[in-house]
Amino acid sequence: AKQLADYIWFNGNIIPWKEATVHVMTHAIHYGSSVFEGVRAYNTPDQGTCVFRLQEHTRRLFDSAKIYRMNIPYTMDELNQALIDIIVKNELKSAYIRPIAFFGDIGMGIKVPLDAEAEVSIAAFEWGAYLGEEALKNGVDAGISSWNRLAANTMPTGAKAGGNYLSSQLISMEARRHGYGEGIALDRNGYISEGAGENIFVIRDGVISTTPKTAAILPGITRDTVMTLAKELGYEIREENIPREAMYLADEILMCGTAAEVTPVNSVDGITVGKGGRGPITKEIQDMFFGLFNGKTEDKWNWLTPVYK
Ligand code: PMP
Repeated sequence: AKQLADYIWFNGNIIPWKEATVHVMTHAIHYGSSVFEGVRAYNTPDQGTCVFRLQEHTRRLFDSAKIYRMNIPYTMDELNQALIDIIVKNELKSAYIRPIAFFGDIGMGIKVPLDAEAEVSIAAFEWGAYLGEEALKNGVDAGISSWNRLAANTMPTGAKAGGNYLSSQLISMEARRHGYGEGIALDRNGYISEGAGENIFVIRDGVISTTPKTAAILPGITRDTVMTLAKELGYEIREENIPREAMYLADEILMCGTAAEVTPVNSVDGITVGKGGRGPITKEIQDMFFGLFNGKTEDKWNWLTPVYK
């Protein structure tokens, strides 16, 4: 893989990026048997580099592993520390961090031994705006995918598992083939689910709606952040099934995720959302979100963990 930083934390040791390799017979490559996280650290004016919502990300990693009966041979505290250590070792000021637990050399076949232990690595590197700086300001053009999101009780979307990202890849590749910046999937009932890697908020007449956890979504940590910040700003938030046409009739739409942060949606299926570009409520939420990292929003929720103490 392209070298993005000097070191990687791998199975308890910090080693050079190039040495963090696995065999082609790795179980996860054949069967998608991995669970992972995407985490960001920001360089804040008061506390220096801080990891955003570290506890929640690590908890979700262990939740994903639990669903797949995957034994992670470390504690949550150990992985929290490892995540901080690898940022420090790479001397990063801001970072995207990718912890992953996967089945490695556990033998061929899908018959996972019940006592199989996962291998764990944590990479940390610099990564800019996932959907682009331009999209953060002026919005992304999105298209509804012809692919539905995974149906309930097929593959659990509540787990952030490697295999789920085959669905995301179909959605994202189709969107780009059609000239869109991102794709949005409907669930099996035809309601809005989520983007290839983002949760969705739809705003009309000052009311903010987001898809419920039953709409085949990954319950995003940024989704939770946006809900908390929007409530703080005095908005009503509804978790409800959202039909496709609500996107066409919205005043504003925003997508959010650790990688995508808070990104406005300019159009859906070629129909301009509201007046187009970034709407006023989206801007307010975006300012409050980025304010957590530029010192303008007080971190009342203890979401920031300083890296260099
Ligand atoms: N849905 C999917 C499918 C994702 O991959 C992501 C990114 N992890 C999200 C939603 C947003 O989740 P979070 O805010 O926790 O990054």
